[in-house]
Amino acid sequence: METKRSTVPAAEEILGLYYPVLDHGFVSLVDYMGSDDAVEQAARVSYGAGTRKVSQTRGLVRYLRRHRHTTPSEMVEFKFHCAMPMFVARQWIRHRTASVNELSARYSLMPLLFYTPDPQHFALQSTSNKQGRAGGAPDEVYKEAIERWQSLRESAGDAYSWMLEEDVAREIARIDLPVSTYTQWYWKIDLHNLLHFLSLRVDPRAQWEIQEFARAIAGMVKRVAPLSYEAWVDYDLESRPLTRAERVVLSRLVDTADEGLTAKDGAAVSKDEMKEAGLSPREVRELVEKIQAPERPDFDLDLSRMRSAEDVAAEMYEAVPSDFD
Ligand SMILES: Cc1cc2nc3c(=O)[nH]c(=O)nc-3n(C[C@H](O)[C@H](O)[C@H](O)COP(=O)(O)OP(=O)(O)OC[C@H]3O[C@@H](n4cnc5c(N)ncnc54)[C@H](O)[C@@H]3O)c2cc1C
Repeated sequence: METKRSTVPAAEEILGLYYPVLDHGFVSLVDYMGSDDAVEQAARVSYGAGTRKVSQTRGLVRYLRRHRHTTPSEMVEFKFHCAMPMFVARQWIRHRTASVNELSARYSLMPLLFYTPDPQHFALQSTSNKQGRAGGAPDEVYKEAIERWQSLRESAGDAYSWMLEEDVAREIARIDLPVSTYTQWYWKIDLHNLLHFLSLRVDPRAQWEIQEFARAIAGMVKRVAPLSYEAWVDYDLESRPLTRAERVVLSRLVDTADEGLTAKDGAAVSKDEMKEAGLSPREVRELVEKIQAPERPDFDLDLSRMRSAEDVAAEMYEAVPSDFD
């Protein structure tokens, strides 16, 4: 039977397929409800008949996002099946506005799949950002880290399998699996809250591993609701709010007569003047960053990497300790 629901060809193309993330993780768009037209439909109701006519979906979607009129975008829903290392899940779960159902390690046997960073992402501690990494680590450190991880994981996996063999309860047997172990969940969230998640998690300040998941999801959003995605990039992701002091400083440099912007001849604002306007040295650095022209990010999915549900299920099944099903 043909559906009466609105569907989007670009979303249908990826529905139920599995996009690989990291070494054993994935994101799959399991289902979606609505697209940009659902945002428009809801917004027109809230405007009320005859009060305002916005003829183009794109113009309306952009207007709504620019002015933070966000409830219409709560009308669009996404459901994902995701697998991620437990340490990523722990960051992800902080986003409270989603519905989550995680694989129960009390009930199910855990696939013994562990995340191993590749050499490019194995880095030393950043000195400027206490929550970040910087610079490549020496090859020998990477090599030894791999050996140590292997030995720890083998030991944790052996203990887990042995306890299952001894009929120890699964909820106890799993307690020493490391946070590199992959877990899985179904994750359902509306477009508004998903875009908030993406703004925080594609950000370079988020841990690289969760960024990878967020980038894959952003590529999926682009397929389901391309106009909302575009408006999010323009008005949220690549937008930078100006503080009062920043506006004071910038207004000394630019004339705004005749609805145009003209550079004031020879105008300049010195460091001292910025300080007087109330900007700390850090804020000055941030202002300089804010006015750099941004590049348009590219979250397009490489569809040649997509895997089938059967293929992914087989990998998970093979990684479960055998003989205890
Ligand atoms: C780079 C980075 C570093 C981080 N470091 C740490 C860390 O060191 N330690 C740590 O504990 N966390 C850390 N976090 C997690 C962070 O503090 C947030 O918990 C997480 O990003 C979720 O954000 P959120 O609350 O806006 O999102 P959601 O939970 O999705 O909520 C969305 C919005 O809904 C509203 N909302 C939801 N629930 C409530 C509520 N109960 N009360 C009021 N408003 C609510 C808020 O407006 C919120 O912004 C970090 C996050 C990032 C991105």
